[in-house]
Amino acid sequence: MFLTGLRCTVCAASHQPAPGRYVCDRCGDAGTLDACYDYAAIGETLTPEGLAADPDRSMWRYRPLLPVGSSTVVSALGVGGTPLVEAERLARRWGVGRLWIKDEGRQPTASLKDRASAVALARAAQEGAETVTTASTGNAAAALAGLAAGTGQTAVIFVPETAPEAKVAQLLAFGAFVMLVEGTYDDAFRLCQETVGRFGWYNRNTGINPYVGEGKKTVALEIAEQLGWEAPDAVFVSVGDGSIIGGVHKGFKDALKLGWIDRMPRIYGVQAEGSSYLADAWLKEEDVVTKPPVAAKTAADSISADLPRDRVKAMAAVVETGGAWVVVDDESILEMIPTVSADSGIFPEPAAAAAFAGLAEVAEGSQGNAPEGGMLDRVVVISSGSGLKDVRGVMRGIDRTGAVPLPVRPGPDGLDPDEIATRMEQWIRKLRKQT
Ligand SMILES: *Cc1c(COP(=O)(O)O)cnc(C)c1O
Ligand SMILES: [Zn+2]
Repeated sequence: MFLTGLRCTVCAASHQPAPGRYVCDRCGDAGTLDACYDYAAIGETLTPEGLAADPDRSMWRYRPLLPVGSSTVVSALGVGGTPLVEAERLARRWGVGRLWIKDEGRQPTASLKDRASAVALARAAQEGAETVTTASTGNAAAALAGLAAGTGQTAVIFVPETAPEAKVAQLLAFGAFVMLVEGTYDDAFRLCQETVGRFGWYNRNTGINPYVGEGKKTVALEIAEQLGWEAPDAVFVSVGDGSIIGGVHKGFKDALKLGWIDRMPRIYGVQAEGSSYLADAWLKEEDVVTKPPVAAKTAADSISADLPRDRVKAMAAVVETGGAWVVVDDESILEMIPTVSADSGIFPEPAAAAAFAGLAEVAEGSQGNAPEGGMLDRVVVISSGSGLKDVRGVMRGIDRTGAVPLPVRPGPDGLDPDEIATRMEQWIRKLRKQT
């Protein structure tokens, strides 16, 4: 293993990895730790040529860049290796040069969170802990529960009772011990944090566990590799706790340090209007270490966070790469689901659709922070979770398009060919008008 230590993102103090060590002693929960590696040694074992020849398409192809020893047993479910799909019609729609979608809906439990939970479970095994716990809006929990079901570890879950049904169904089917919290994600988070120490469980909580972002960074390594190690100009990421965007930043930084790419992309963080802690802090130049929580409310449940737990890393991702924070309202998020689906074949959940709505906003320049020409020549949007996670949310988006199925009765006089022809023509005209 090439992990050399952990560094506090607030005070820069160095810490040695140890069981039970999650955050900086001095800074408390705001002091998220960042994993440090011996990059010179990694560069000698892991190379673009070696990667090209590696038949393992899962995230574990980057194991030297992860805090997991080579002998540690890891999830066999094939986490990572999701397709990067070029979306030409969407690129035309928004006037960007080339657009690729990283489809994280195709992970084993259907969201990007699998990357993080896979690393947390491997670390827990390495540290000798059998039970792993997390608070979650739903996807991190589903990922932990599903991957733990694969490895035979035990998952203890705290989710808000408002979590979409499909996510709760995943938890129960995977055999996790589930606590449905009467309250928000932030309430679930506090409860989990209070309980974890009493039982000695391994703590996977976002913004607390220093390793989950390491798992998430593999999405950036894959994007860079899939683009032939030519960094895109811009990457759009939906943001709740800020852990994914922090991971994306770390992945591109790793690739840059190793000389695999020669420049960083601009990273754009997209937040829902009702959950815009980081975007507000950026606009008002507030310090995220001291800024108090907001009262989050959005239809995109996976990006609803009163206090983004990984806010320090998240802010750095945007500021250090010259990106921007973008705010989109629930209406544009929900309407984006059928737009992206019909124009690309990729089916995003509401939180994932937010990233596309953010790109649309920036491309159209309506927030006055549109980058100059050329900045959006090569763009990647991370579609962080599948629409099957929240069918009710998807239907709300479809309702806004006015699309309704044509009811038909079986039997000889049930199907009226003229009616079918008329309705189909209307429908095709409508689709064409949209593009
Ligand atoms: C968790 C999640 C996000 C946001 O990630 P953060 O690390 O909380 O910012 C976005 N989309 C989906 C589908 C998610 O599950
Ligand atoms: Zn510190």
